[in-house]
Amino acid sequence: MRRDLGRKRSDGHAGIITAGFFGEPRPSTPLRERYNARVRFTTVFFDLDDTIYPASTGLWRAIKNRMNDYIRDRVGIPSAEIGALRERYFLEYGTTLRGLEAHHSVDSADFLAYVHQLPLEEYLAPDPHQRAVISALPVRKLIFTNADSAHAKRVLGMLNLEDCFDGIIDVNALAPYCKPLPQSFEVAMRVAGEMRPSMCAIIDDLPRTTHAARQQGIYAILFGRETAYPDADATLLDWADLPARLG
Ligand SMILES: [Mg+2]
Repeated sequence: MRRDLGRKRSDGHAGIITAGFFGEPRPSTPLRERYNARVRFTTVFFDLDDTIYPASTGLWRAIKNRMNDYIRDRVGIPSAEIGALRERYFLEYGTTLRGLEAHHSVDSADFLAYVHQLPLEEYLAPDPHQRAVISALPVRKLIFTNADSAHAKRVLGMLNLEDCFDGIIDVNALAPYCKPLPQSFEVAMRVAGEMRPSMCAIIDDLPRTTHAARQQGIYAILFGRETAYPDADATLLDWADLPARLG
């Protein structure tokens, strides 16, 4: 069934990518049937970096290193000052990029293209169980990321997950906001066509994002931890456990 996710916003905002993600339903596979489950939500938002692929891959660390290179070489900040600067922007603006835009007139497209210029095949490989779990979930599934859709599409392609999602809500779609600002969740729900927070769940590796999502009434799952965590409704380490978390 084609869902009403592909409508262009009236302001013509770029960055919400839905075309090409619908496709025809694929035949069920034994692996997928194993993960078939009822869930109590209509919509699940998936973070990308350090969630759709784990931190152990080293990809996000490599992206952050390229951010440092960019800030040193293109913005002209001395190496010794970059760590503190990024921490400040991360806390004040949500992302390094938003801080660079506000204080250094950095062009977001130039920055995003530079920092994501990495050989993904050296970091990522498909996980058939992750694919089976996500594709079997009977919900609207959207990538919800502070990166851009070009990076998200490359990552999903490398993980063989590109047809598992109904769309990508990227940093351009969220502009001038980004996660974890409350407005970012409003944008995400509007794109999803589900304005009831209680019908939405989010999976993200950052406690500040799960904390903010909970404040909006969204069920928040913290990825990358096994034990309970105060800023999240649940935690997830193994994708096989996701249907139970959402049931
Ligand atoms: Mg993340």
